[in-house]
Amino acid sequence: MITKDFIINSAKRVGFDLVGVVPAEPLAEQRKCFEEWLLAGNHSTLSYLERNIDKRFNVQQLVENSHSVIVCGVSYLSQYSRGYSEGYCAKIASYALNDDYHVTIKAMLAELAEELKKVSPELKFRAFVDSAPVAEKSLAVRAGFGWIGRQSLVVNPKLGTMFHLGELIIDDVVDEYDTPMEGVNCGNCRKCVEACPNQAILESRLVDTRRCISCRTIEREGCNDNIKLDGWIFGCDACQSVCPFNQHAPLHRNPKFDPRIDPYELTPERWQTMTEEEFKAIASTTPMTRSGLERIKNNLEK
Ligand code: SF4
Ligand code: SF4
Repeated sequence: MITKDFIINSAKRVGFDLVGVVPAEPLAEQRKCFEEWLLAGNHSTLSYLERNIDKRFNVQQLVENSHSVIVCGVSYLSQYSRGYSEGYCAKIASYALNDDYHVTIKAMLAELAEELKKVSPELKFRAFVDSAPVAEKSLAVRAGFGWIGRQSLVVNPKLGTMFHLGELIIDDVVDEYDTPMEGVNCGNCRKCVEACPNQAILESRLVDTRRCISCRTIEREGCNDNIKLDGWIFGCDACQSVCPFNQHAPLHRNPKFDPRIDPYELTPERWQTMTEEEFKAIASTTPMTRSGLERIKNNLEK
């Protein structure tokens, strides 16, 4: 058995800001909310969300013999996370200015697993970062990171919302598990709801992806709609920038999450004339490769 203290100290050494450990148990209540959201069609063309629901809300079905989930969080909040100058119209979500977090966090989780194997050589694990069907936000809440804010993201009272999540699912039990944070929530604040350019935030603390700029600029297909992009060309931070918890949170401390790109240097004119070679040189390690140059250029025109 590994101790929770050892896990937390190891994860902090690796560079995570938040660490919690929860038992690998089904998340029945969260599954119900998710299914209601799907039934209402709020996932639009993101059909992958309809698949693997059993695995998504039951870690034991995703990873055989799993007993515990180590939930890790790391801040990426930078000087670009708290909003752009009025009228700037080549806005990029601040996480996308960094190296791709999937790669960075996967490597950090692998490092953490190696640390754990020093005390438990037979340990079996699998690492996940926003790619497999894992109910990351529900696990983070269960691990005591914070609560689900009105804009559907986990709010941590110290770090705000601009942190990435990653999970290490292990086949061992831990001496002590975390519990959800109590007595904290959004109170009367509705800043994120009011800041959303397309009123995409639903009263149920979920987002209608049909109206969300982040989904529209990156993932969603069938873009012949009239969704207002409000100057965003990749992702959208509008509902997070205004959150009082992000306004007061410290900037990220892990240098792996330093921005690689200054979005003010990439003006609309620069984007318009950019070649694929230039795009590769500028953005090949960032999440912006996910949508590609052509889509970014198209987004400029909306
Ligand atoms: S990411 Fe942008 S469009 Fe989507 S809910 Fe937040 S503010 Fe609205
Ligand atoms: S902006 Fe306000 S309502 Fe929205 S998540 Fe932050 S605290 Fe909650």
